Amino acid sequence: MTDRRCDIAVIGGGIVGLASARELLLRHPEMKLLVLEKEPKIAQHQTGHNSGVIHSGIYYAPGSLKARTCVAGKQKLIRYCDEHGIPYNLCGKVIVATDEEELPRLENLYERGRKNGVPGLEMIGPERLREIEPYAVGIRALYSPTTGIVDYEQVSCSFANDVRARDGEILTSHEVRRIEERDGRYYLETPAGTVAARYVISCAGLYADKVAEMSGAPSVPRIVPFRGDYYVLRRDKSHMVRGMIYPVPDPRFPFLGVHFTLRMNGEIWLGPNAVLAFAREGYGRFDVNLPELMDALTYRGFGVLAYKFWRVGFEEMYRDYSKIAFLKALQRYVPDLHLDDLEPGPSGVRAQALGLDGELVDDFVVNHNGRTLHVRNAPSPAATSSLAIAELIADTTERAFGLAG
Ligand SMILES: Cc1cc2nc3c(=O)[nH]c(=O)nc-3n(C[C@H](O)[C@H](O)[C@H](O)COP(=O)(O)OP(=O)(O)OC[C@H]3O[C@@H](n4cnc5c(N)ncnc54)[C@H](O)[C@@H]3O)c2cc1C
Repeated sequence: MTDRRCDIAVIGGGIVGLASARELLLRHPEMKLLVLEKEPKIAQHQTGHNSGVIHSGIYYAPGSLKARTCVAGKQKLIRYCDEHGIPYNLCGKVIVATDEEELPRLENLYERGRKNGVPGLEMIGPERLREIEPYAVGIRALYSPTTGIVDYEQVSCSFANDVRARDGEILTSHEVRRIEERDGRYYLETPAGTVAARYVISCAGLYADKVAEMSGAPSVPRIVPFRGDYYVLRRDKSHMVRGMIYPVPDPRFPFLGVHFTLRMNGEIWLGPNAVLAFAREGYGRFDVNLPELMDALTYRGFGVLAYKFWRVGFEEMYRDYSKIAFLKALQRYVPDLHLDDLEPGPSGVRAQALGLDGELVDDFVVNHNGRTLHVRNAPSPAATSSLAIAELIADTTERAFGLAG
Protein backbone atom coordinates (compact mmCIF):
# COMPACT_ATOMS: atom_id res chain seq x y z
CA MET A 1 0.00 0.00 0.00
CA THR A 2 1.44 3.32 -1.03
CA ASP A 3 0.04 6.80 -0.56
CA ARG A 4 0.74 9.25 -3.34
CA ARG A 5 0.36 12.97 -3.97
CA CYS A 6 -0.14 14.70 -7.28
CA ASP A 7 -1.50 17.85 -8.87
CA ILE A 8 -3.94 16.10 -11.22
CA ALA A 9 -5.48 12.66 -10.89
CA VAL A 10 -7.21 11.29 -13.97
CA ILE A 11 -9.64 8.49 -13.16
CA GLY A 12 -9.96 5.99 -16.03
CA GLY A 13 -7.37 4.58 -18.40
CA GLY A 14 -9.61 4.38 -21.46
CA ILE A 15 -8.91 6.40 -24.59
CA VAL A 16 -10.57 9.57 -23.26
CA GLY A 17 -8.69 9.54 -19.94
CA LEU A 18 -5.35 8.79 -21.59
CA ALA A 19 -5.78 11.40 -24.34
CA SER A 20 -6.75 13.97 -21.68
CA ALA A 21 -3.79 13.07 -19.47
CA ARG A 22 -1.50 13.44 -22.48
CA GLU A 23 -2.94 16.83 -23.44
CA LEU A 24 -2.72 18.16 -19.86
CA LEU A 25 0.93 17.13 -19.62
CA LEU A 26 1.73 18.70 -23.00
CA ARG A 27 0.32 21.98 -21.68
CA HIS A 28 1.52 21.69 -18.07
CA PRO A 29 4.74 19.67 -18.02
CA GLU A 30 5.54 20.95 -14.52
CA MET A 31 2.50 19.25 -13.03
CA LYS A 32 2.56 15.84 -11.39
CA LEU A 33 -0.16 13.74 -13.02
CA LEU A 34 -1.37 10.25 -12.21
CA VAL A 35 -3.85 8.13 -14.16
CA LEU A 36 -5.77 5.68 -11.95
CA GLU A 37 -7.19 2.66 -13.74
CA LYS A 38 -9.07 -0.06 -11.94
CA GLU A 39 -8.13 -2.91 -14.30
CA PRO A 40 -4.68 -4.54 -14.45
CA LYS A 41 -4.37 -3.16 -18.03
CA ILE A 42 -5.48 0.04 -19.75
CA ALA A 43 -8.24 0.22 -22.43
CA GLN A 44 -10.10 -2.91 -21.35
CA HIS A 45 -13.66 -1.61 -21.55
CA GLN A 46 -15.33 0.49 -24.26
CA THR A 47 -11.97 1.41 -25.79
CA GLY A 48 -11.03 -2.23 -26.23
CA HIS A 49 -14.50 -3.42 -27.25
CA ASN A 50 -15.64 -1.31 -30.18
CA SER A 51 -16.03 -1.37 -33.95
CA GLY A 52 -12.73 0.42 -34.54
CA VAL A 53 -14.28 2.92 -36.94
CA ILE A 54 -12.75 6.35 -37.50
CA HIS A 55 -16.03 8.18 -37.99
CA SER A 56 -16.10 11.13 -40.35
CA GLY A 57 -18.86 13.18 -38.63
CA ILE A 58 -21.96 12.49 -40.72
CA TYR A 59 -24.55 11.67 -38.10
CA TYR A 60 -24.24 14.44 -35.55
CA ALA A 61 -26.33 17.59 -35.16
CA PRO A 62 -24.40 20.51 -36.70
CA GLY A 63 -22.74 22.60 -34.00
CA SER A 64 -22.95 19.82 -31.39
CA LEU A 65 -19.86 18.70 -29.49
CA LYS A 66 -20.07 15.35 -31.26
CA ALA A 67 -20.03 17.02 -34.70
CA ARG A 68 -17.23 19.42 -33.85
CA THR A 69 -14.95 17.02 -32.03
CA CYS A 70 -15.53 14.17 -34.48
CA VAL A 71 -14.51 16.14 -37.57
CA ALA A 72 -11.56 17.80 -35.79
CA GLY A 73 -10.68 14.64 -33.85
CA LYS A 74 -10.54 12.51 -36.97
CA GLN A 75 -7.97 14.83 -38.56
CA LYS A 76 -5.91 14.92 -35.38
CA LEU A 77 -6.09 11.14 -35.00
CA ILE A 78 -4.89 10.52 -38.55
CA ARG A 79 -2.02 12.97 -38.13
CA TYR A 80 -1.16 11.30 -34.82
CA CYS A 81 -1.20 7.82 -36.41
CA ASP A 82 1.02 9.05 -39.27
CA GLU A 83 3.51 10.55 -36.81
CA HIS A 84 3.57 7.46 -34.58
CA GLY A 85 3.53 4.73 -37.22
CA ILE A 86 0.12 3.40 -36.16
CA PRO A 87 -1.62 1.65 -39.06
CA TYR A 88 -5.09 2.74 -40.16
CA ASN A 89 -7.13 2.28 -43.30
CA LEU A 90 -9.45 4.89 -44.85
CA CYS A 91 -11.44 2.15 -46.54
CA GLY A 92 -14.68 4.15 -46.94
CA LYS A 93 -18.24 3.44 -45.93
CA VAL A 94 -21.71 3.31 -47.45
CA ILE A 95 -24.93 4.08 -45.59
CA VAL A 96 -27.57 2.19 -47.52
CA ALA A 97 -31.31 2.84 -47.92
CA THR A 98 -33.25 -0.26 -48.89
CA ASP A 99 -36.72 1.27 -49.09
CA GLU A 100 -38.28 4.55 -50.20
CA GLU A 101 -39.32 5.45 -46.67
CA GLU A 102 -35.64 5.81 -45.66
CA LEU A 103 -34.75 8.27 -48.43
CA PRO A 104 -35.63 11.51 -46.59
CA ARG A 105 -33.53 10.37 -43.61
CA LEU A 106 -30.63 9.51 -45.92
CA GLU A 107 -30.91 12.94 -47.55
CA ASN A 108 -30.93 14.48 -44.10
CA LEU A 109 -27.70 12.64 -43.22
CA TYR A 110 -26.10 13.94 -46.41
CA GLU A 111 -27.05 17.52 -45.45
CA ARG A 112 -25.79 17.04 -41.90
CA GLY A 113 -22.51 15.63 -43.16
CA ARG A 114 -22.05 18.56 -45.54
CA LYS A 115 -22.85 21.08 -42.83
CA ASN A 116 -20.37 19.35 -40.52
CA GLY A 117 -17.65 19.65 -43.17
CA VAL A 118 -17.26 15.94 -43.97
CA PRO A 119 -15.19 15.75 -47.16
CA GLY A 120 -16.06 13.76 -50.28
CA LEU A 121 -19.66 12.76 -49.44
CA GLU A 122 -21.57 11.45 -52.43
CA MET A 123 -25.15 10.26 -52.96
CA ILE A 124 -24.98 7.17 -55.13
CA GLY A 125 -27.37 4.79 -56.90
CA PRO A 126 -27.43 0.97 -56.94
CA GLU A 127 -24.84 0.58 -59.74
CA ARG A 128 -22.19 2.70 -58.02
CA LEU A 129 -23.01 0.91 -54.76
CA ARG A 130 -22.24 -2.40 -56.48
CA GLU A 131 -18.91 -1.02 -57.71
CA ILE A 132 -17.94 -0.05 -54.17
CA GLU A 133 -19.48 -3.05 -52.37
CA PRO A 134 -20.22 -5.78 -54.94
CA TYR A 135 -22.44 -7.85 -52.59
CA ALA A 136 -24.49 -4.95 -51.19
CA VAL A 137 -27.97 -4.00 -52.39
CA GLY A 138 -29.98 -0.83 -51.86
CA ILE A 139 -31.98 1.75 -53.74
CA ARG A 140 -29.68 4.63 -52.79
CA ALA A 141 -26.65 5.13 -50.57
CA LEU A 142 -24.51 7.80 -49.00
CA TYR A 143 -20.84 7.15 -49.72
CA SER A 144 -18.21 8.49 -47.34
CA PRO A 145 -14.84 7.70 -48.93
CA THR A 146 -12.78 8.95 -45.96
CA THR A 147 -14.35 6.95 -43.13
CA GLY A 148 -11.69 4.60 -41.82
CA ILE A 149 -10.64 1.99 -39.30
CA VAL A 150 -7.93 1.73 -36.65
CA ASP A 151 -7.15 -0.31 -33.55
CA TYR A 152 -8.11 1.97 -30.65
CA GLU A 153 -6.34 -0.18 -28.07
CA GLN A 154 -3.10 0.40 -29.99
CA VAL A 155 -3.82 4.16 -30.16
CA SER A 156 -4.46 4.18 -26.38
CA CYS A 157 -1.19 2.36 -25.66
CA SER A 158 0.59 5.03 -27.66
CA PHE A 159 -1.17 7.81 -25.67
CA ALA A 160 -0.09 5.98 -22.48
CA ASN A 161 3.53 5.98 -23.71
CA ASP A 162 3.28 9.74 -24.31
CA VAL A 163 2.01 10.21 -20.74
CA ARG A 164 4.91 8.18 -19.30
CA ALA A 165 7.41 10.01 -21.52
CA ARG A 166 6.30 13.26 -19.88
CA ASP A 167 6.74 11.85 -16.37
CA GLY A 168 3.08 11.05 -15.89
CA GLU A 169 2.32 7.74 -14.23
CA ILE A 170 -0.34 5.19 -14.99
CA LEU A 171 -1.35 3.21 -11.94
CA THR A 172 -3.30 0.11 -12.95
CA SER A 173 -5.27 -1.99 -10.45
CA HIS A 174 -6.17 1.31 -8.73
CA GLU A 175 -9.95 1.36 -8.51
CA VAL A 176 -11.18 4.58 -6.93
CA ARG A 177 -13.75 3.51 -4.34
CA ARG A 178 -14.14 6.63 -2.24
CA ILE A 179 -13.38 10.32 -2.66
CA GLU A 180 -13.01 12.65 0.29
CA GLU A 181 -12.27 16.36 0.13
CA ARG A 182 -10.27 17.98 2.93
CA ASP A 183 -7.56 20.63 3.35
CA GLY A 184 -7.85 21.71 -0.29
CA ARG A 185 -7.19 18.23 -1.67
CA TYR A 186 -9.17 15.25 -2.85
CA TYR A 187 -8.23 11.94 -1.28
CA LEU A 188 -8.96 9.08 -3.65
CA GLU A 189 -9.08 5.73 -1.88
CA THR A 190 -8.08 2.66 -3.86
CA PRO A 191 -7.28 -0.88 -2.71
CA ALA A 192 -3.62 -0.10 -3.49
CA GLY A 193 -3.42 3.07 -1.40
CA THR A 194 -4.70 6.63 -1.25
CA VAL A 195 -3.91 9.29 -3.81
CA ALA A 196 -4.13 12.96 -2.80
CA ALA A 197 -4.79 15.32 -5.71
CA ARG A 198 -5.48 19.02 -6.13
CA TYR A 199 -7.63 18.41 -9.20
CA VAL A 200 -9.55 15.35 -10.36
CA ILE A 201 -10.57 14.57 -13.93
CA SER A 202 -12.95 11.64 -14.19
CA CYS A 203 -13.20 9.71 -17.46
CA ALA A 204 -14.69 6.58 -15.95
CA GLY A 205 -16.89 5.44 -18.85
CA LEU A 206 -19.42 2.90 -17.58
CA TYR A 207 -18.96 4.21 -14.02
CA ALA A 208 -18.94 7.93 -14.84
CA ASP A 209 -22.07 8.58 -12.77
CA LYS A 210 -20.83 6.55 -9.79
CA VAL A 211 -17.49 8.39 -9.67
CA ALA A 212 -19.29 11.72 -10.04
CA GLU A 213 -21.55 10.82 -7.11
CA MET A 214 -18.52 9.82 -4.99
CA SER A 215 -17.09 13.31 -5.45
CA GLY A 216 -20.33 15.01 -4.45
CA ALA A 217 -21.53 15.79 -8.00
CA PRO A 218 -25.13 14.94 -8.99
CA SER A 219 -25.85 11.27 -9.72
CA VAL A 220 -27.98 12.23 -12.73
CA PRO A 221 -27.73 11.64 -15.65
CA ARG A 222 -27.23 7.99 -14.87
CA ILE A 223 -25.28 5.60 -17.04
CA VAL A 224 -27.33 2.79 -18.50
CA PRO A 225 -25.23 0.06 -20.10
CA PHE A 226 -26.26 -1.13 -23.58
CA ARG A 227 -24.53 -4.29 -24.74
CA GLY A 228 -23.79 -4.84 -28.41
CA ASP A 229 -22.95 -8.31 -29.72
CA TYR A 230 -21.04 -8.99 -32.91
CA TYR A 231 -20.81 -11.97 -35.21
CA VAL A 232 -17.68 -12.42 -37.30
CA LEU A 233 -17.97 -13.24 -40.99
CA ARG A 234 -16.39 -16.59 -41.86
CA ARG A 235 -12.85 -15.96 -43.16
CA ASP A 236 -13.51 -17.51 -46.58
CA LYS A 237 -16.45 -15.07 -47.02
CA SER A 238 -14.48 -11.93 -46.10
CA HIS A 239 -14.38 -10.89 -49.75
CA MET A 240 -18.12 -10.09 -49.47
CA VAL A 241 -17.39 -6.82 -47.65
CA ARG A 242 -14.65 -4.42 -48.75
CA GLY A 243 -15.08 -1.57 -46.26
CA MET A 244 -18.12 -0.67 -44.22
CA ILE A 245 -21.83 -1.11 -44.91
CA TYR A 246 -24.25 0.68 -42.57
CA PRO A 247 -28.04 0.99 -42.40
CA VAL A 248 -29.86 4.31 -42.26
CA PRO A 249 -30.12 4.75 -38.47
CA ASP A 250 -33.32 5.25 -36.52
CA PRO A 251 -33.08 8.92 -35.46
CA ARG A 252 -34.80 8.17 -32.12
CA PHE A 253 -31.70 6.33 -30.88
CA PRO A 254 -28.02 7.24 -30.67
CA PHE A 255 -27.01 3.76 -31.95
CA LEU A 256 -26.18 3.27 -35.62
CA GLY A 257 -27.82 -0.11 -36.27
CA VAL A 258 -26.10 -3.43 -37.06
CA HIS A 259 -23.43 -2.90 -39.67
CA PHE A 260 -20.60 -4.62 -41.52
CA THR A 261 -17.14 -3.43 -40.53
CA LEU A 262 -13.74 -4.34 -41.86
CA ARG A 263 -11.20 -4.72 -39.03
CA MET A 264 -7.51 -3.94 -39.11
CA ASN A 265 -6.74 -7.69 -38.98
CA GLY A 266 -8.88 -8.34 -42.08
CA GLU A 267 -11.88 -9.77 -40.21
CA ILE A 268 -15.38 -8.51 -40.94
CA TRP A 269 -17.50 -7.81 -37.86
CA LEU A 270 -21.28 -7.87 -38.09
CA GLY A 271 -23.10 -5.85 -35.45
CA PRO A 272 -23.40 -4.53 -32.82
CA ASN A 273 -27.03 -4.61 -31.78
CA ALA A 274 -28.11 -2.71 -28.65
CA VAL A 275 -29.76 -4.41 -25.67
CA LEU A 276 -29.83 -3.54 -21.99
CA ALA A 277 -26.79 -5.16 -20.34
CA PHE A 278 -27.58 -6.88 -17.05
CA ALA A 279 -24.23 -5.71 -15.66
CA ARG A 280 -22.24 -2.59 -16.50
CA GLU A 281 -19.33 -4.73 -17.57
CA GLY A 282 -21.49 -7.67 -18.61
CA TYR A 283 -20.08 -8.80 -21.93
CA GLY A 284 -21.87 -12.15 -21.98
CA ARG A 285 -25.62 -12.58 -22.66
CA PHE A 286 -26.04 -14.21 -19.26
CA ASP A 287 -23.79 -11.96 -17.17
CA VAL A 288 -25.84 -10.46 -14.35
CA ASN A 289 -24.86 -8.07 -11.59
CA LEU A 290 -28.03 -7.87 -9.51
CA PRO A 291 -27.38 -4.56 -7.69
CA GLU A 292 -26.42 -2.90 -10.99
CA LEU A 293 -29.42 -4.36 -12.80
CA MET A 294 -31.78 -3.20 -10.05
CA ASP A 295 -30.11 0.19 -10.13
CA ALA A 296 -30.96 0.51 -13.84
CA LEU A 297 -34.47 -0.96 -13.61
CA THR A 298 -35.53 1.22 -10.69
CA TYR A 299 -34.19 4.45 -12.20
CA ARG A 300 -37.12 6.69 -13.19
CA GLY A 301 -35.48 7.61 -16.50
CA PHE A 302 -35.24 3.94 -17.44
CA GLY A 303 -38.93 3.39 -16.64
CA VAL A 304 -39.90 6.24 -18.98
CA LEU A 305 -37.59 4.94 -21.73
CA ALA A 306 -38.87 1.36 -21.39
CA TYR A 307 -42.50 2.53 -21.51
CA LYS A 308 -41.84 4.51 -24.71
CA PHE A 309 -39.78 1.91 -26.52
CA TRP A 310 -40.83 -1.46 -25.09
CA ARG A 311 -41.59 -2.88 -28.53
CA VAL A 312 -38.21 -1.91 -30.04
CA GLY A 313 -36.55 -3.21 -26.85
CA PHE A 314 -38.20 -6.62 -27.16
CA GLU A 315 -37.37 -6.84 -30.87
CA GLU A 316 -33.72 -6.10 -30.11
CA MET A 317 -33.71 -8.73 -27.32
CA TYR A 318 -35.26 -11.29 -29.66
CA ARG A 319 -32.66 -10.55 -32.32
CA ASP A 320 -29.97 -10.88 -29.68
CA TYR A 321 -30.98 -14.45 -28.86
CA SER A 322 -32.02 -15.47 -32.39
CA LYS A 323 -29.19 -15.83 -34.90
CA ILE A 324 -31.77 -16.13 -37.69
CA ALA A 325 -33.29 -12.75 -36.80
CA PHE A 326 -29.79 -11.22 -36.71
CA LEU A 327 -29.04 -12.76 -40.13
CA LYS A 328 -32.28 -11.34 -41.54
CA ALA A 329 -31.27 -7.81 -40.46
CA LEU A 330 -27.95 -8.28 -42.25
CA GLN A 331 -29.46 -9.86 -45.37
CA ARG A 332 -31.34 -6.67 -46.01
CA TYR A 333 -28.00 -5.22 -47.14
CA VAL A 334 -26.10 -8.35 -48.24
CA PRO A 335 -28.71 -10.92 -49.33
CA ASP A 336 -26.16 -13.64 -50.25
CA LEU A 337 -25.22 -14.17 -46.59
CA HIS A 338 -26.01 -17.59 -45.07
CA LEU A 339 -26.53 -18.62 -41.49
CA ASP A 340 -23.30 -20.60 -41.35
CA ASP A 341 -21.33 -17.56 -42.61
CA LEU A 342 -21.85 -15.99 -39.18
CA GLU A 343 -19.47 -17.09 -36.43
CA PRO A 344 -19.81 -16.01 -32.80
CA GLY A 345 -17.92 -12.78 -32.13
CA PRO A 346 -17.06 -10.43 -29.29
CA SER A 347 -19.28 -7.87 -27.63
CA GLY A 348 -19.00 -4.40 -26.15
CA VAL A 349 -20.97 -2.41 -23.60
CA ARG A 350 -21.79 1.23 -24.31
CA ALA A 351 -21.92 3.73 -21.46
CA GLN A 352 -25.00 5.73 -22.37
CA ALA A 353 -26.20 8.56 -20.15
CA LEU A 354 -29.94 8.63 -19.54
CA GLY A 355 -31.80 11.64 -18.12
CA LEU A 356 -34.54 11.44 -15.49
CA ASP A 357 -37.02 12.26 -18.28
CA GLY A 358 -36.13 9.04 -20.13
CA GLU A 359 -34.16 10.89 -22.84
CA LEU A 360 -30.96 9.21 -24.01
CA VAL A 361 -28.40 12.00 -23.76
CA ASP A 362 -27.28 12.59 -27.31
CA ASP A 363 -24.25 14.82 -27.05
CA PHE A 364 -21.00 14.50 -25.14
CA VAL A 365 -21.30 15.98 -21.67
CA VAL A 366 -18.38 17.36 -19.68
CA ASN A 367 -19.02 19.36 -16.52
CA HIS A 368 -17.25 20.33 -13.34
CA ASN A 369 -18.01 20.49 -9.65
CA GLY A 370 -15.54 22.04 -7.23
CA ARG A 371 -12.09 21.06 -8.50
CA THR A 372 -13.39 17.87 -10.10
CA LEU A 373 -14.26 17.59 -13.76
CA HIS A 374 -16.48 14.80 -15.04
CA VAL A 375 -16.94 13.32 -18.50
CA ARG A 376 -20.56 12.25 -18.04
CA ASN A 377 -21.38 11.03 -21.52
CA ALA A 378 -18.77 9.93 -24.05
CA PRO A 379 -20.31 7.24 -26.24
CA SER A 380 -19.49 6.76 -29.93
CA PRO A 381 -17.71 8.57 -31.65
CA ALA A 382 -15.63 9.47 -28.58
CA ALA A 383 -12.78 7.17 -29.66
CA THR A 384 -12.55 9.01 -33.00
CA SER A 385 -12.92 12.33 -31.19
CA SER A 386 -10.55 11.53 -28.32
CA LEU A 387 -7.79 14.01 -29.20
CA ALA A 388 -10.32 16.82 -29.71
CA ILE A 389 -12.21 15.88 -26.51
CA ALA A 390 -8.85 15.98 -24.71
CA GLU A 391 -8.37 19.59 -25.83
CA LEU A 392 -11.87 20.44 -24.67
CA ILE A 393 -11.16 18.84 -21.28
CA ALA A 394 -7.84 20.67 -20.94
CA ASP A 395 -9.52 23.99 -21.89
CA THR A 396 -12.32 23.39 -19.38
CA THR A 397 -9.83 22.37 -16.68
CA GLU A 398 -7.80 25.53 -17.21
CA ARG A 399 -10.86 27.76 -17.19
CA ALA A 400 -12.71 26.12 -14.32
CA PHE A 401 -9.71 25.61 -12.04
CA GLY A 402 -7.87 28.80 -12.96
CA LEU A 403 -4.78 27.04 -14.32
CA ALA A 404 -2.63 29.26 -16.51
CA GLY A 405 -3.05 28.05 -20.12
C1 LIG B 1 -19.85 -1.75 -29.06
C2 LIG B 1 -19.22 -0.40 -29.22
C3 LIG B 1 -18.85 0.05 -30.49
C4 LIG B 1 -18.26 1.30 -30.64
N1 LIG B 1 -17.77 1.68 -31.87
C5 LIG B 1 -17.07 2.83 -31.97
C6 LIG B 1 -16.43 3.17 -33.20
O1 LIG B 1 -16.43 2.39 -34.15
N2 LIG B 1 -15.79 4.37 -33.28
C7 LIG B 1 -15.75 5.24 -32.22
O2 LIG B 1 -15.18 6.34 -32.36
N3 LIG B 1 -16.32 4.92 -31.04
C8 LIG B 1 -16.95 3.74 -30.89
N4 LIG B 1 -17.48 3.38 -29.69
C9 LIG B 1 -17.40 4.32 -28.58
C10 LIG B 1 -16.01 4.33 -27.94
O3 LIG B 1 -15.51 3.04 -27.75
C11 LIG B 1 -16.12 5.07 -26.61
O4 LIG B 1 -16.77 6.29 -26.85
C12 LIG B 1 -14.75 5.34 -25.98
O5 LIG B 1 -13.99 4.17 -25.93
C13 LIG B 1 -14.96 5.92 -24.60
O6 LIG B 1 -13.71 5.95 -23.97
P1 LIG B 1 -13.63 6.21 -22.41
O7 LIG B 1 -12.19 6.36 -22.08
O8 LIG B 1 -14.57 7.31 -22.06
O9 LIG B 1 -14.29 4.92 -21.75
P2 LIG B 1 -13.66 3.49 -21.43
O10 LIG B 1 -12.84 2.97 -22.53
O11 LIG B 1 -14.79 2.63 -20.98
O12 LIG B 1 -12.68 3.78 -20.22
C14 LIG B 1 -13.13 4.08 -18.92
C15 LIG B 1 -12.10 3.50 -17.97
O13 LIG B 1 -12.40 3.90 -16.64
C16 LIG B 1 -12.06 2.83 -15.78
N5 LIG B 1 -12.78 3.04 -14.51
C17 LIG B 1 -14.12 3.03 -14.31
N6 LIG B 1 -14.39 3.26 -13.01
C18 LIG B 1 -13.20 3.43 -12.38
C19 LIG B 1 -12.84 3.67 -11.04
N7 LIG B 1 -13.76 3.80 -10.06
N8 LIG B 1 -11.51 3.77 -10.73
C20 LIG B 1 -10.56 3.65 -11.70
N9 LIG B 1 -10.86 3.39 -12.99
C21 LIG B 1 -12.16 3.29 -13.33
C22 LIG B 1 -12.50 1.61 -16.55
O14 LIG B 1 -11.90 0.43 -16.10
C23 LIG B 1 -12.11 1.98 -17.97
O15 LIG B 1 -10.82 1.52 -18.32
C24 LIG B 1 -18.07 2.13 -29.50
C25 LIG B 1 -18.42 1.67 -28.23
C26 LIG B 1 -18.96 0.41 -28.09
C27 LIG B 1 -19.25 -0.10 -26.71
